[in-house]
Amino acid sequence: MTDAADVTSVPSDPAAKLVIVVGGGVAGLVAALECAKVGMRVTVLERDTRVGGVIRREEVGGVAVDLAADGFSTRGGVVAAVLDQVGLGDAVIRPEHGGRFIAGATGVAPLPAETVFGIPANAWAEDVRRHIGWSGAWRAYLDRLRPPLTIGQEQSLGRLVRTRMGDRVRDRLVAPLSVGGYAVDPDDVLVDEVAPGLNAALTRTGSLAGAVAAVRAERDGGEDGLAGLSGGMARIIDGLVARLFDFGVEIRTQVPVTGIRRTGDAGGRPWLVQTDDEAIAADAVVVAVDEDGARAVLAHAAPQLASLAVDVAPTVPRESITLVFDAPGGAVDRPGPVVHAVPGTRRASTLLHQTGRWNHLRAAAGESGVVARVTFGGPGDPPATAALDDAAAATMALAEASALLALPLDGVRLRGTHRYRYDQPPPASARGRAERAARARAALTAAPGIALVGAWLAGTGLAQVVDDAIDQADALRRGVLFGGVAG
Ligand SMILES: Cc1cc2nc3c(=O)[nH]c(=O)nc-3n(C[C@H](O)[C@H](O)[C@H](O)COP(=O)(O)OP(=O)(O)OC[C@H]3O[C@@H](n4cnc5c(N)ncnc54)[C@H](O)[C@@H]3O)c2cc1C
Repeated sequence: MTDAADVTSVPSDPAAKLVIVVGGGVAGLVAALECAKVGMRVTVLERDTRVGGVIRREEVGGVAVDLAADGFSTRGGVVAAVLDQVGLGDAVIRPEHGGRFIAGATGVAPLPAETVFGIPANAWAEDVRRHIGWSGAWRAYLDRLRPPLTIGQEQSLGRLVRTRMGDRVRDRLVAPLSVGGYAVDPDDVLVDEVAPGLNAALTRTGSLAGAVAAVRAERDGGEDGLAGLSGGMARIIDGLVARLFDFGVEIRTQVPVTGIRRTGDAGGRPWLVQTDDEAIAADAVVVAVDEDGARAVLAHAAPQLASLAVDVAPTVPRESITLVFDAPGGAVDRPGPVVHAVPGTRRASTLLHQTGRWNHLRAAAGESGVVARVTFGGPGDPPATAALDDAAAATMALAEASALLALPLDGVRLRGTHRYRYDQPPPASARGRAERAARARAALTAAPGIALVGAWLAGTGLAQVVDDAIDQADALRRGVLFGGVAG
């Protein structure tokens, strides 16, 4: 990573270049930092009253709680590197518990130990049979007898698992993870993205179970893990804002951008960023908003963006209800911290027992305090809470929490609740996501000096969003400083 002082001999004077970042979510703030740290002038325009986008912390029942991202994947070290740059490297923590459970018709039980994305290496293992029963295990065993090459290169995870091991493995072990965790149907998940090497190992070993065992052996403990921040994940936003201020970046909230046009000023700043009150001329623009928002603000600058014909896994409406309550004796020993429901068996899709995962939150919630987030909604399955008033939604969430935590919660004292509705874009591993990102960016080739970042392109998840924002901001600043983008 480069600091302003390290950058020497650039052809254009960075300080003479103004970059406008539209959208102050994590993608926009990271892109802003990349541009600011090489000395470019940067202004962030955010529609909301606060920056951070979906990453937010609220006081619920007297406890400061992350309402969205509460941790990050350590994949590639990208998020940790940003945290280092914003002075939060020492605050990175590992979860107290990392376990996952699955709740189905047969009760709540751990995700089997020897699996890759829920696919078992041994269908007869007791922790697998508990979920799929004897008949499911027999069907899964057919995988060992079936010739591998006929479907050796199946790209859809759901179809691969169904064909080799049957519906029960797909529906009861794989679907809870993809739907609960990422709001995507297993049929829309690309095998090579979630389980690199699995298809090749299938051809090599002759069975999917053999491939799972081989991939696990190759990983040899090197699996990407989950990390968080002491004090909560929303601190990444505080850290980014503080660092941006150090670099003199202007952050303006309650400034929705309505459009971006060419100035027509040959030799001057090429882009005009329109807000409700003014038009700001810029050398470069980073569009860091959601998909619909990007299409709207780029309607003039990149009209082709409006009609990208890509068949992509859908963005899914969801609702998460955070509950803070006192449980007799606390709930640290409950299943979790993550419990995914088998789709179709419960009204909720996932429970996140946050006090079970993070020590700092347990300390904040007190001896008997529990913070749990219950998420509703999946692909083709609108949130069951959508039409309920706040009290009814909280009651439903508490009933689901009770079932998923296997903890009677009748008469429990709720200290506070919070509802959070959002649209979840497909993950990086989803069918069509990479093609859509490539076509969206291709639509911008006629608009040099504009970059597109954000979860709808990178795939949801901080590791993906941050990595992509750094790459795109790097290409943009190269173009503006070295590549002759007008200015
Ligand atoms: C409930 C939930 C839980 C999650 N949990 C995790 C997790 O545990 N780990 C993980 O890695 N990831 C998690 N994620 C995903 C991760 O938080 C997101 O992928 C990431 O924060 C998205 O950032 P973004 O900048 O792309 O988008 P956003 O956060 O949506 O930011 C876009 C910003 O643009 C602004 N904006 C929109 N239109 C305009 C306009 N016209 N003018 C100006 N501003 C505009 C918006 O107000 C917003 O601030 C979670 C997401 C959710 C919703």
